[in-house]
Amino acid sequence: MQVAHRGREFRATGVAGNDRMIIRKSREEIGKMREAGRIVAGVLDMLVEHIRPGVATETLNRLADEYIRERNGVPSFLGYRGFPASICTSINDVVVHGIPGKTRMKEGDIIGIDVGVILDGYQADAARTYAVGEISEVAARLMEVTRRSLQAGIAACRAGNRLGDVSHSIQRVVEEGGFSVVVQFVGHGIGRDMHEEPQIPNFGPPGRGPVLQPGMTFALEPMVNEGTYEVRVEDDGWTVRTVDRKLSAHFEHTVAVTEGEPMILTLA
Ligand code: MG
Repeated sequence: MQVAHRGREFRATGVAGNDRMIIRKSREEIGKMREAGRIVAGVLDMLVEHIRPGVATETLNRLADEYIRERNGVPSFLGYRGFPASICTSINDVVVHGIPGKTRMKEGDIIGIDVGVILDGYQADAARTYAVGEISEVAARLMEVTRRSLQAGIAACRAGNRLGDVSHSIQRVVEEGGFSVVVQFVGHGIGRDMHEEPQIPNFGPPGRGPVLQPGMTFALEPMVNEGTYEVRVEDDGWTVRTVDRKLSAHFEHTVAVTEGEPMILTLA
């Protein structure tokens, strides 16, 4: 989701002072999100064999939409604030929110695919970045660092930690990997709605923000750039691209805070 204020300003504030209500879910509700998440993960797994040179992104969108509906899910992105497709397909310098269309994947591309599903009134949201054929060393490293930053964020989703601990864990992995964190877009709470409180920046100091409690459910989604952190939304109102046209990667899971280990809800 896009933050209400611009990067530099937001960096100063981080998550401190965000005391709006975070909705905690019951065990039953988390179970429903887990079922929605199973479909999301199924889409991302199913698409693997279709991620290859020459395949158009609208084909991926059609396959995903069919997969979701065959399982009685609803693609949550379709029609969201007018978004025209069921998934987002973001190639190379597109950070997030790429619109599927006639564009065909080419050897050496990386493509981020973001999927959201509603099932029985509850939502799950996840994304992966895939290699199209053989990719460059820097592209592979960017994907690996982004994936690891998500894992670090998930590991910090423990009762008693603060939200800033999650943000900071992600930022540290990204910056130690030599890449930069997008600040204009952030992760989010999720549940009955796709975007609930809190906003979850992928950066900021540890030890700040709300204390995590069992039943909180978050979509963590580091967006990581090869070059500058700066991004721009294109004239279509959706496509977010790096300002320097260098690569960007995106991984996302929906996660529940529990009494013990963090629970990933978007697994097959
Ligand atoms: Mg999301």
